[in-house]
Amino acid sequence: MPENNNKKDGESSQLPGIPGRRKSGFEQPFDTLQIATWIIFPFILVHYFSFLYFLIWSALAAKVILTIIFCCSAVATLYFAYKTCSIDPADDVLCHQSVANPNETEQIYCYLCEVNVDSSSKHCRFCNKCVETFDHHCKWLNTCVGRKNYRYFLGIVSSVFIMTGESFALSLAFMIESFAFPDRFLGRVLSFNDFKHYLGSSISIVALQTLLVISVFILLCIVLLVVQLCGFHIVLLWKGQTTYDFIVTEQKKQRERENARAQKKLELQAKSSNKKSADKAPVPAPADEENHKGDEDGDDDDDGCIDDDEIEGDEEGNGREVVVAHNGNEDNV
Ligand SMILES: [Zn+2]
Ligand SMILES: [Zn+2]
Repeated sequence: MPENNNKKDGESSQLPGIPGRRKSGFEQPFDTLQIATWIIFPFILVHYFSFLYFLIWSALAAKVILTIIFCCSAVATLYFAYKTCSIDPADDVLCHQSVANPNETEQIYCYLCEVNVDSSSKHCRFCNKCVETFDHHCKWLNTCVGRKNYRYFLGIVSSVFIMTGESFALSLAFMIESFAFPDRFLGRVLSFNDFKHYLGSSISIVALQTLLVISVFILLCIVLLVVQLCGFHIVLLWKGQTTYDFIVTEQKKQRERENARAQKKLELQAKSSNKKSADKAPVPAPADEENHKGDEDGDDDDDGCIDDDEIEGDEEGNGREVVVAHNGNEDNV
């Protein structure tokens, strides 16, 4: 991780080679999820053109329009994926092998790249390079996403959303139709010469329904992933954050919550031990009737620790209030 420690201008004049630095998503080592991408994308294409295409309602306009939308989104996905993976999102200093003028932008020194980089750059351990306005390392594409390729990455997310969304919607519609009107559905499917030629006229409604149920299940998983990714990046754009910023912020909030819980636990333990000390001490004469009632309530649930109900009771001013007051604590909780 880079640190805010600017190096003198002269010190970064010698740019070292960075062994193992990956420049694009097409370079090894490949990631398991990247290989999964190479399998899932062709699967969606084959699924559409060898199955869904033949099930689309007979109206030529519907078939043409839906297929054009699918093809455009598939081509756009390929284009955006190529651009995202082929563009090196590394810091300009690493890309151009030139020294950035520290007077132009705020600089930080990366001890791994051994060079001054832009303050928005973060060092990716998978790619072994500093990435300008680092967003995240995408394992599905096996490349870093930063300022230089973020818009293409958003293009992938959008086009994949359209492509998988259409496949899922069609599969779901055909599945519902096949169960609701099996005879009509099978008759319509078998009326297509292309489908007869491809699968034969002996295909049964059960086989079609099984294929559709499997298709809907697989596509639903993919669509949910894509929708979640779309929603996440829409929120990031709205907030003006990168994925990295979001994760760092969330981790900070999580640490603060854990610290607050630990602090509260310590306070409760301290009060519990104070109460035990107070119980062992001689009980003073009750000042009035209300305090006497409080002592009785406090003794009833003396289990050595304070649970949620007891905390609530303290806030309401009964039971524990008197015990705590005996020990000179500042407040009732
Ligand atoms: Zn670096
Ligand atoms: Zn990376």
